[in-house]
Amino acid sequence: MKKLLGLNLAQLGEVAASVGLRPFAAKQMAAWLYQKRVTDIAAMTDLPKQARARLAEEGWTVGREEPVAEARSTDGTAKYLFRGVGGRDIEAVYIPDRERATLCVSSQAGCRMGCRFCMTGQGGWQGNLDAGAIINQVLSIPESESLTNIVFMGMGEPADNIEAVLRAVEILTAPWGLAWSPRRITVSTIGKLDGLRRLLDETQVHIAVSLHSPFPTEREGIMPVEKAFATRDVLAELRRHDFAHQRRLSMEYTMFAGLNDDMRHADALARLLRGTDARVNLIRFHKTPGFEGAPSDRSTMERFRDRLNELGITATIRASRGEDIMAACGMLAGKAKTNNNKTDE
Ligand code: SF4
Repeated sequence: MKKLLGLNLAQLGEVAASVGLRPFAAKQMAAWLYQKRVTDIAAMTDLPKQARARLAEEGWTVGREEPVAEARSTDGTAKYLFRGVGGRDIEAVYIPDRERATLCVSSQAGCRMGCRFCMTGQGGWQGNLDAGAIINQVLSIPESESLTNIVFMGMGEPADNIEAVLRAVEILTAPWGLAWSPRRITVSTIGKLDGLRRLLDETQVHIAVSLHSPFPTEREGIMPVEKAFATRDVLAELRRHDFAHQRRLSMEYTMFAGLNDDMRHADALARLLRGTDARVNLIRFHKTPGFEGAPSDRSTMERFRDRLNELGITATIRASRGEDIMAACGMLAGKAKTNNNKTDE
């Protein structure tokens, strides 16, 4: 089956031409897919009946897929499991927070970056999602219409599947697509430079970089990618762009007891980020089975945050959400039965 979901206007134009429709039909198809959110080509009622029949005959479908399982946290967070690729399912996490409603989407089934503390990385990489599978997460959760923000922080490294991520961002932000402001979208990356450059140059989305240590050798111990994409090169690239105005740059810093949470780290982090307009999100580590590290305690995190703030770096402790359903940062494994008391499957 061929999916219309995930195609941009030019590609929809090619499909339209292939069944004898005029170029204008691409806009109609985009409106049906991304604005009226239909799940069946038959519902695209301003396309001639014959053309709709031909699309179906040629194997085209809308390509929407409902989640196959869901789990709800006591804090309101919901985790949705979708069929992925290569035999591995993928997850999207819905996080309501007062007037905000954020969806954390996955971009790959698994991940090949191998961050040692992360359950997604521990399970290896099974394949890339296409743009349709990324957009499907946004459109197919029950809370879709109420979403205010999207973060690419689920399973996978977005810069390692850059074509699909760029296409998904295009569909999310284009006037013929979902027409979202790029300021409501954040893409997180470990700093894979080729993909990061394209995100910086071709989109206006906010950027979050997973840093986790200011010291290269220590970072490499928890994030092997430091070897291929050194922090200093990532920061040099980021310094070429403007984050002082509407576009935001944040550094994600998961805190591990005794590993990256003393004042030496805070001071080095502040030195490293000076002049970048980056803010720091401090994240509590959620214990994963394959990593021996432990979370820093709350008072250590507060001292670390205060030190960064004193040194002129805006730092906040990010609220932890969905830990009881294994939906918090670093816990996405792509498995339905991740808790035994709240899963509604
Ligand atoms: Fe991949 Fe992100 Fe997990 Fe690292 S933290 S292994 S980049 S999903």
